[in-house]
Amino acid sequence: MPPEFALLAAALAAAVVLWLRERRLRRRVARELREMEARRAAYRNTAEHLSEGVILLDSRDRVVFANAAASGLLDVPPPPSSDPPPALGAWANPSFAASLRYGNPEETQRRVVELEGKGGPRTVELTSGPAEGGKRFLLLRDLRGAVAVDLKRRDFVANASHELQTPIAALIGLLDLLEDSDPATAAPLLQRAQRNAQSLSALTRDLLGLAKAEDPGWRPAPRGLKVAEAVARVEERLREKAAAKGLALVVRVTPPELEIVADRGSLDTVLANLVDNAISYTERGRVELRVSSEGGVGVAIEVEDTGPGIDPEILPRIFERFFRGDPAHSRASGGTGLGLAIVRNLVGRMGGRIAVRSRPGEGALFRVELPFSPAKPLPGAGQASFS
Ligand code: ADP
Repeated sequence: MPPEFALLAAALAAAVVLWLRERRLRRRVARELREMEARRAAYRNTAEHLSEGVILLDSRDRVVFANAAASGLLDVPPPPSSDPPPALGAWANPSFAASLRYGNPEETQRRVVELEGKGGPRTVELTSGPAEGGKRFLLLRDLRGAVAVDLKRRDFVANASHELQTPIAALIGLLDLLEDSDPATAAPLLQRAQRNAQSLSALTRDLLGLAKAEDPGWRPAPRGLKVAEAVARVEERLREKAAAKGLALVVRVTPPELEIVADRGSLDTVLANLVDNAISYTERGRVELRVSSEGGVGVAIEVEDTGPGIDPEILPRIFERFFRGDPAHSRASGGTGLGLAIVRNLVGRMGGRIAVRSRPGEGALFRVELPFSPAKPLPGAGQASFS
């Protein structure tokens, strides 16, 4: 054979070998891809049928995967399979997205959260933790009946103990210091001890208030009340606090002879907590308390302030027990994080509902609607809405 042919034959043989090898390689890659896809489909299928909600988020909090149980628990349709995937905040309800902003995403955490749904609030155990490639997984377990009550109680006791522990530890420290101090240095220590004792007192008062509002065995005592008298009591109680901050406290009842059938203590607590908050969180301007008759159905109470308003991210959480937007500010102004939880419970027991409207920088408006009598509750009694 001429040498050129030999060369050509060798080149051809090499090309065939290469082509065969590449074909084998391509087939193997295709097979592995198919197997991977099948494994992924199997995982998805398994996750899809779990009764627990499963959500996978990418590093930018976008929903890569969510099973049917997760959509069901969050009361939203399945996430669209778009590219890029939808942001968690845009897909899930805002209170859920907001509840994830707390805590370290690098750690696995478990806590009990309340989710607002169309059928009322729902108690869910939320576990979150890091997943491969900077992703994050979320597991949602619906807590019903006794389990929910038990876990909520455990969560509550843990929070309450922590809240009580802070001023108690401070008091013990201050008393130790006082033991060795002379009269000159004792005065500021005593003042701090007094402030901590006041925090303890406010906390125990609110804990008892909440326990009462939530106790199904507690029977409120509704009777005919003149709204203007309740408003005057609140004004009397909080006038000085508003004046000390240079705020105008404006009250108006229309018509002035407006009456309601309600438990007197509950009505006073609702009004006082809302006005007290408005004063605490407002540095300049005014706080208005307006109560008016609502088209023959009931009474509308509006508390409006010219304060900083409430960040939309935390707005859905403000009625949670122990939730504070700014813990330092809340503590400094005597807050316990329980005021709005008490308000919501009492409003529900009175057959009413509550709505909050707020834009950052434009103040907050709390609107409570109560029926003329708790015997005729309003539709959606006990619910809170936000805008
Ligand atoms: P706190 O004791 O902290 O005031 P609340 O349950 O009364 O507890 O309120 C919960 C959170 O709601 C507060 O910590 C604050 O962040 C927010 N908040 C309530 N009322 C107002 C308001 N009028 N303006 C701005 N933020 C408010």
